[in-house]
This record gives sequence, structure tokens and C-alpha cells, in this order.
Amino acid sequence: MTTQTVEPTMPRYAEAALDALSTSILASLGVPGEPNPLGLEPVERACLLVVDGLGWDLLRAHQAAAPFLSELAMTASPLTAGFPATTATSLGTLGTGRPPGQHGLLGYQVAVPGTGTLLNALRWEHGMDPVEWQPGSTIFERARAAGVRAFRVAPGHLRNSGLSVASMRGAEYESADTLGALVSRAAAVLGANAPAMAMVYYGELDATGHMLGCGTDAWEYQLAHVDKLAEQLASALPQGTALHVTADHGMTDIPAADRIDADALPQLRDGVAMLGGEPRARHVYCEPGAAGDVLAAWREVLGGRAWVASREQAIADGWFGPVDPRFTERIGDVVAAPAGPWAIVATVTEPRESALIGMHGSLTSADQLVPLLTLTTG
Ligand SMILES: [Zn+2]
Repeated sequence: MTTQTVEPTMPRYAEAALDALSTSILASLGVPGEPNPLGLEPVERACLLVVDGLGWDLLRAHQAAAPFLSELAMTASPLTAGFPATTATSLGTLGTGRPPGQHGLLGYQVAVPGTGTLLNALRWEHGMDPVEWQPGSTIFERARAAGVRAFRVAPGHLRNSGLSVASMRGAEYESADTLGALVSRAAAVLGANAPAMAMVYYGELDATGHMLGCGTDAWEYQLAHVDKLAEQLASALPQGTALHVTADHGMTDIPAADRIDADALPQLRDGVAMLGGEPRARHVYCEPGAAGDVLAAWREVLGGRAWVASREQAIADGWFGPVDPRFTERIGDVVAAPAGPWAIVATVTEPRESALIGMHGSLTSADQLVPLLTLTTG
């Protein structure tokens, strides 16, 4: 495992991160009060394709498998996802147009303050009310209030998930369980409405990378399907639609030898009440009075291989954007993010997550940078 020091790729909230993309799209559709830092041109219809796990670095490394997207990438720049670079957080950012510190979906597993429990934002089995957890408006609600029809096109099983309600309530939901259905439903709803927007979500590239690795033939074959999905959208959407392609995070493969097991190292568990987050973005919740000792221990064990910060320091350094005081205690007393392709697994308490090959979450460019590819259909 290397110990070289690298600079973190810090999220560029409100300028060139996923929150900026969402508000810019609303602004392009004429929704008042929405900043347009990306300078998107006015349009009647916009389609945002969110490809789970399509990192900028990965796309650039696999151009032959994705000729359509790669040609668009030649004249494009990446965005930063945000921290942690994980689906729950990034869908919260895209769905609200606000940074994580303002929507409160602060990771894959975060503490529910005062309960001694963690909320898994993908499984949402906690019983927590999603509206209470993320009380702010969504971009879909703000679009509709301005007279813009706002659709979400995604697999049917996601429709009423806690994460969907928290991050994207107010969308008119179009269930689409196959690649062809995603294209046809997006084309249908945008063809019949203006002004209108549609957010299209595809999750299988991320799933392939987690299970098999993003450096594999399987991932590359899956990327080719994504490329065709984007190409079909570009030809099927009504003329003059702005099509934007982005992702919620990148990914990196973690060799078996490059995993520190927090469940096997007492130094990483002493004084720790709950271990949250995920292997490349850890929220460490401490016993009362132990935060200082835990911070010192984690810094000593992880050394220069990770960015390790106290909650206060991580907030001050802008990891989450400006943090709403209601959400502060959802952040770990200590936050840790690997500074290279390795991970802090927990083989006993998180056997499923610890077995994954591809992972994401940290502040490296592989995790943070995602494409912003834009075209206007002709
Ligand atoms: Zn993932």
C-alpha cells in the first residue's frame, strides 16, 4: 500500500458540482430563483441521464467501448460529485439542487442522532420518515411550482423507496424497468409536454462494477449498453431537447490486499460507538468524550494514506458544503477517506459491503469526478 501524499479533489459546490447542475437545469427551463453557474442555454425541454457509477476517469479510460459518450467528452469538463461520493448523497444533491450539508443525506450509513442507530439510506429499513429526514424542497417540486412538468424515469421498484421520497418527491414517476423502456418513456413524456424536464436513472453499471470490478470486461460491456442508451435518447427525444449525461460518483477497484479491516483492529474500535459510512468514506461516531483519542488513533493507524478529520474540521474545509445545524450530528465525530485505491472495510459488521470489488466514496479524482456531457437534439 502506498503512502504518498496526494491532494484531495474537493467538491466544487454551487460552481461545478451536482447541485450546480440541477439548479442550472431548472434555470435553463425558466424556473425563477435558480442559479445557473453552468451557464446553460434557455430550453423548453431538458433530460438528465444519471448513470450510476460512470466516473469521468473511467469513461476516459474506456473510450472504445463508449464512442458516443467519448466524442461528447472531448469538448466537455467533469463535475465533482460531492462528499461522500455515494449514490444516496449524490441523488440527494441532484434531487434538491443543494449540497449534502443542506439536504442532510450525508452518506450510505449515518447516525440517527439520539437513537444509537444507523440509517442505511439505500435500504431505509429504520422507519425514519423520509420527509422529516430531508425536509427541504426538491427540484421537482420547484419545477412544478413554476409550471414546468417534472418527471422521473426509473425502475419501478425505486418508486416509493425512502431515498426516493427524501430526495425526489414531487416528481411524476414513470416506471421503466429496461433500457428500451427508459428511452421510450422519456421520449413520450417530453414529447407530450413543454416546458418539461425528465431525470432518467440507470443503475446497472454501478452494480456491475461493485460485483465484478470496474476494470473488467463485464464493466466495459455494460458501458457499451450505457453508450447505446445515451445515443438512443439523443435520437428519440423531441427536437431541441437539452440532453445532459452525468453520474453520481466514479469507482475504483480495491485489491484484496489493500483493505484495512476495522473489525480486526482494536485501535480503530476503541472509543467508537458506531462505525458508519462505507469503506471509502467513513463516519466514525465516538463514545462521549472519546473523539479526540479516536481521531489521534485513526490518524496514527491510517497515516498519510487517508484524509482524516474531526467533524468540525471536515465541515470547515467544505467537505459537505455549508452544513445546516439540524444535520451536524449526522456527521461522524471523525471522518476518514482513503487517499488512494484502498478501503476501510468491516468484515464482521458489513460482510456484504466488505466483499465488493469496485468501491467509491472518497475525495480522489476516481471517486469525485463525473462527466457533464451535453447536447441539444436536432
Ligand atoms: Zn455504488
